[in-house]
Amino acid sequence: MKTCPKCHKEFNDDVLICPECNVELVPVETVEDWITVYTTYDVVEAEMLKANLKGAGIEAVVLNEKDSNFPGPGDTAVVKLNVRPDDFEDAKKIIEDINNRAE
Ligand SMILES: [Zn+2]
Repeated sequence: MKTCPKCHKEFNDDVLICPECNVELVPVETVEDWITVYTTYDVVEAEMLKANLKGAGIEAVVLNEKDSNFPGPGDTAVVKLNVRPDDFEDAKKIIEDINNRAE
């Protein structure tokens, strides 16, 4: 079973992309059990951090709550970066390093 991180509809495992949101589906347990390591308002930043974590061998998922039940101006949308609980500390350090370098 997979779910869409955007609209939270569920699909069979052979479906890769949500036909409505055009986003990559994630395993159901990802959304339920993984924890938020970073919250931002910038989906580009979230995707960049996800790519960096992947490069370090950590799977992360971007949850974009832009189209949630609270529609508003684009810059108020919350984008969460979720990782496995086991990866949380490592992911946090990597993200801190990246953000320190950016300053
Ligand atoms: Zn969807």
